[in-house]
Amino acid sequence: MLIDQIIGVGEIAIADHRGSQLSVHELARVAAECRVGGMLSGKAGIVFVHVGDGKGGLNLLHQVAEQTDIPLTQFYPTHINRSQQLLEQGFAFAKAGAMIDFTASTNQACLDSGEVAVVDAVQQAINANVPLRQISLSSDGNASLPVFNDRGELTGLEMGTVASLYQSLCQLVAAGMNLAEVLPLVTSNAARTLKLTQKGQLAVGMDADMVLTTPDMVIDKVWSQGLLLVDQGQAVRYSQFERC
Ligand SMILES: [Zn+2]
Repeated sequence: MLIDQIIGVGEIAIADHRGSQLSVHELARVAAECRVGGMLSGKAGIVFVHVGDGKGGLNLLHQVAEQTDIPLTQFYPTHINRSQQLLEQGFAFAKAGAMIDFTASTNQACLDSGEVAVVDAVQQAINANVPLRQISLSSDGNASLPVFNDRGELTGLEMGTVASLYQSLCQLVAAGMNLAEVLPLVTSNAARTLKLTQKGQLAVGMDADMVLTTPDMVIDKVWSQGLLLVDQGQAVRYSQFERC
């Protein structure tokens, strides 16, 4: 409540053997504290949820909503494109009025193990009549991505890239989707849900975060809060450690 930069809790893991195996009651308590903190401070108070590939999927979130007075909209689950089964659970979750988030960064091992590529996941959502305003994309940048050999043994870790988010947007457009319709997936949808009132739109009084591209979506200029960071495709401004 008292620290501006803290707007909720996350990522809390469910349906994952690496997670802390929260009970319905424990998760409800976290969500309740988040909800009240958000209400009193005017923040989103959202619980951002990492959904693993465990058998429960989103069930725990539904159980909280059924057994308590916490609404589903208190939760913002991510990695929903992890598998076809979870994707379909996510569509039902979104149709109940809540937000879902797809992860853009991936590697071949993840796709081979059943992850649904973002373009396919968004197309399926459209076909299933899930409103696009209830979907966001995030990069999960710098998260580890496992690499397996032919025998299924873990041989290394790759890193998810921040750039995967923009690459996914370009892939959606290349697949024939309308830029104006899919742009909110990486801009205003998350900003609205997280109550980041300065972000997500170009309007008077908002932070001037802008990307200017060529017609074929090659990045030309990037501004962050009005400062030019990239010009003619080249970084022109660095933070303290980025030149190291
Ligand atoms: Zn995660």
